[in-house]
Amino acid sequence: MKSVTEPKRIVVVGGGVGGMVAAWEAQRAARELDLPVTITVLEQRDRVGGSIVTEDIDGCLVEGGPDCFVSEKPWGLQLVRELGLADALSATNDDRRKTYVYWKGKLHPLPDGLILLVPTRVMPFITATLFSWPGKLRMALDLVLPRRTDGADESLGDFIRRRLGRETLDKLGEPLVAGIHSGDPETMSVRATFPRFVDMEREDRSLILAMLKRMKAARAARARAALGAAKVTMFMTLTGGLGRLIKALEHDVGPDALVTSTRVQSVERSADGAWTVRTDTEACWAADAVIVAAPAYAAAAMLRAAAPALAEELAAIPYVTSATVTLAYDEATFPRDPDGFGVVIPKAQNRRIKALTWVTSKFYGRAPEGTVLMRTFVRPNDQAGNPLDEPALIAAATEEIAHIVGVTAAPRWARAFRWDRAMPQYVVGHLARVDRIDEELTSLPGLALAGGAYRGSGIPDTVRHSREQARRVVQALAPPGD
Ligand SMILES: Cc1cc2nc3c(=O)[nH]c(=O)nc-3n(C[C@H](O)[C@H](O)[C@H](O)COP(=O)(O)OP(=O)(O)OC[C@H]3O[C@@H](n4cnc5c(N)ncnc54)[C@H](O)[C@@H]3O)c2cc1C
Repeated sequence: MKSVTEPKRIVVVGGGVGGMVAAWEAQRAARELDLPVTITVLEQRDRVGGSIVTEDIDGCLVEGGPDCFVSEKPWGLQLVRELGLADALSATNDDRRKTYVYWKGKLHPLPDGLILLVPTRVMPFITATLFSWPGKLRMALDLVLPRRTDGADESLGDFIRRRLGRETLDKLGEPLVAGIHSGDPETMSVRATFPRFVDMEREDRSLILAMLKRMKAARAARARAALGAAKVTMFMTLTGGLGRLIKALEHDVGPDALVTSTRVQSVERSADGAWTVRTDTEACWAADAVIVAAPAYAAAAMLRAAAPALAEELAAIPYVTSATVTLAYDEATFPRDPDGFGVVIPKAQNRRIKALTWVTSKFYGRAPEGTVLMRTFVRPNDQAGNPLDEPALIAAATEEIAHIVGVTAAPRWARAFRWDRAMPQYVVGHLARVDRIDEELTSLPGLALAGGAYRGSGIPDTVRHSREQARRVVQALAPPGD
């Protein structure tokens, strides 16, 4: 029989930022409740961090996955501050805040005042070269169109076409969604990926009027977030890269809690409600609670026997593969001043890259003087659907940059990262599915799901969701009355 003081055992499956934050929050919550716990994070790779990986190449800072997070959702900034990294927070170089759209062989600057897809200033919009006159008039129609009232979910493509017209979808909506979610707007749920658009239409009818109203509030929120510290821009990062976030979590969670190179095969539940986590090393962990922070399809495979209905819902969340390539060029060989944050390339242009970030222009301190650093999102498969390996990804990125930016010199070096099935796709109906998943979990005490697969796929939402889940698990383990 267990003694009263025996620590509760919590196993976290998956050591991405979701799993690491869940472990960190579970430790904090247990300390607050004076509840003795042992926490173990099981990660299949030989490192924690999941898609967050920062490397130093030749004095340049290379982000393999995420390179920044939005500040409007406060949970990323909050975590950074709680981890003691406030001094490392770094704004983007907003003097150079300009984005181009590659359309019919030319780079068109997005008009000033265009926020997400919504124009908020008249003159820059009227003079913009990207949109045709019928396209501009169709966008402006948003001012008078009625709101949709049935409350049903719809695809982002349908939503944008309905409010702002087809041209906005093709030139802006599609590359934006491809850039953020590697997704297809015709299948993505507007409610799950851009809930604020739905709120804006519900509350203010017109997206343009709603955006004007909200810009003021957003500026005030950013000023509040800064609280006398460093400037806070729409996107924030860390000096030294987002890998520092993972390092800080690793430090706090402690090396004894981290078990890498260990792939979880199943999470089982016995009749008395205890959990067993089995791995491919034949080691198995007994647990009072398990937080699964692996991708949803991996969670489905682990839970198939213990919770078949839950596993079925999890397996239905689709994922896509993406790839980034970072390239370093000698500034002297670069044909133009990279005077912006980057370029998005709509699918209709049939290029092999989806987006291009001018890293040394967008962020501070990423490369020594005289080096231009570029990062591209490359389409990860060839036209026949075969996966591209690293040399092929680098070749595609180099050729496309030569074509789009006009640089003919070879890069000094390039580094590719392939992310197989790393991006969950919130398709139409996603939130209803996650509600069903939560419902299934109510009959599985001691089991929680965390990470970016469920209620927001970027870093801030992943942090929020993982902290909430960890706290819930610890509270349920505490004796009644605590
Ligand atoms: C290329 C790319 C760029 C991105 N850019 C941004 C950005 O700029 N800003 C932003 O906010 N977000 C960005 N994101 C999204 C961001 O990366 C996610 O929000 C975040 O990484 C989700 O964390 P996670 O822990 O849920 O998942 P992951 O990072 O995928 O971690 C899951 C972990 O589970 C492990 N695992 C899987 N199966 C098992 C198993 N059977 N046993 C043990 N371990 C297992 C994996 O190895 C992995 O470490 C980007 C994502 C990608 C792929």
